[in-house]
Amino acid sequence: MSYPFIRARHFTPASRGKADIDVIVLHTMEFPETPDAAERVAHYFQTTSREVSAHYNVDNNSVVQCVREDDVAYAAPGNNWNGIQIEQSGFARQTAAGWNDAYSKALLERTARLIAEITKRYAIPIVPLDAADLRADRRGVTTHVAVSRAWGRSDHTDPGRAFPLGKVLARAKELRGSGPPRPKPRPKPRPTLREGDRGFQVKRAQRLLNEKPGIQIAADGIFGPETKAAVVKFQRRRGLAGTGVIGPKTWAALLKRPRATGSSAGGAVSPGLFELSEALPGAGSEA
Ligand SMILES: [Zn+2]
Repeated sequence: MSYPFIRARHFTPASRGKADIDVIVLHTMEFPETPDAAERVAHYFQTTSREVSAHYNVDNNSVVQCVREDDVAYAAPGNNWNGIQIEQSGFARQTAAGWNDAYSKALLERTARLIAEITKRYAIPIVPLDAADLRADRRGVTTHVAVSRAWGRSDHTDPGRAFPLGKVLARAKELRGSGPPRPKPRPKPRPTLREGDRGFQVKRAQRLLNEKPGIQIAADGIFGPETKAAVVKFQRRRGLAGTGVIGPKTWAALLKRPRATGSSAGGAVSPGLFELSEALPGAGSEA
C-alpha cells in the first residue's frame, strides 16, 4: 500500500536494501490527537530547520509518508541507520485509558497495519525488542524509549509507559496472517568499513566517531583519509591495532554506550523527539 508523500527536509539518502532494515521504531509525536495530525507534522518535517524526520506519520484517519524507506530518517539516534520510524499522534504521558479511546483505537489499527506491511516487506519478525535486544542487533519492533536506553544517545521516553505495544503487535500479526515461516531473530554482522567505502554505514561510523572526545570529522558518508586518521586515533586510544579499518572489534568499541550521565537525575527528560505543541502555534490548544 502506498501513502501520500510529503518529503521531509532532513534525511540521509541511503539506498538501503532489504538486508539493511532491521527494526521498526514507534514514537509519539507529542502532538494532540487531531484528525490532521499526520499532515501537520509532515508539513513540520518539510519545513523545520531542526534535523528531525520520520518515515511515516499516523493519525486516526490517515498515514502520511515523509521519508522513503530506502533512506534514513532522523528520529532515534542509535537505530536510525537500520530503522523505519513511525510517529503517532498523541503524547507519551497518555494513560491506558487514553490509548483506549476511539481516536487511539483508530490510530493503533493503522499503526498495526503499517507494521504488518513493513515487516512482511523486510521479513522482520513481529516481536517486541527491548534495549538488550537492540544492542544484540536483533530484528523486530521497538520503541523510542528502548532505543534511548540501548544507546544512551537520547533521553526520549516516547511512546510512554502505557503504550499498548503487545496489543498492537498481536493485531499486526493477525493482519499479516500466517504467511511464510517466520525467520528466527538473529544478530547480524556489522559491515567492515575501510578507506574508499561510501554510504550510510560510513556516515553512521563517522557520527559515532564524532561523539568521541577530540574527534571532529565531516559526517559525509565518504571514508577518506580524514576518516581513516580518526579511526586510527580512536583505535590506538582503545588499545586496538591502528589499522584504520572498522571491523567487529572497532564497531563494538564505537558502539559502547557512553557512561551514564545520570539521565534520570540531573538532565531534563523529554517525552518525544520534539515538542510540537510549541513548534506549531495553536497545536496545543486542543490538548
Ligand atoms: Zn520519539
